[in-house]
Amino acid sequence: ADDLPHVSEADPTAKALGYVEDATATKDPKHKPGDTCANCQFYTGAATGYGPCQLFPGKAVNAKGWCISHTAKQA
Ligand code: SF4
Repeated sequence: ADDLPHVSEADPTAKALGYVEDATATKDPKHKPGDTCANCQFYTGAATGYGPCQLFPGKAVNAKGWCISHTAKQA
């Protein structure tokens, strides 16, 4: 899924969800340290690079990214 177009932070949906390419760069108080797309249940990609997120159909998010819809993967 690395071939999918990457979600841009400027994308309206991305803005609405406060998506950032780098989780450590967000100033959102909802972000908990260590939360990234890679450990979100909506993410189906590899641990590094880019992969699909169910909230961004047809696009790929950064494994190191984050948004306010982050939900921890169930173990
Ligand atoms: Fe990343 Fe999860 Fe937000 Fe999708 S829902 S952008 S995988 S944090």
